Amino acid sequence: MVNCKDCLKDLSEYLEGCLDDELRRELQAHLNGCHHCKVIFDTTRKTVELYCDGRVFPLPDNVRLRLHSALRRRWEKKRA
Ligand SMILES: [Zn+2]
Repeated sequence: MVNCKDCLKDLSEYLEGCLDDELRRELQAHLNGCHHCKVIFDTTRKTVELYCDGRVFPLPDNVRLRLHSALRRRWEKKRA
């Protein structure tokens, strides 16, 4: 079962369509049951869609890193 930390770790891969089917299903199941991650997911997806203009292509490394650290900060702030 995916926990919140795993969920956020895999989020950008999920949004890029890089996750395999099983992980994607687990992530979706977690998002359905976890409001906190759902909110972050929706926000991140909007950000990515804005950035990508709706097209699907891999994020550049610097964007991916920024996304990851932003997610981590968000998550740690909620936990604190
Ligand atoms: Zn969660």
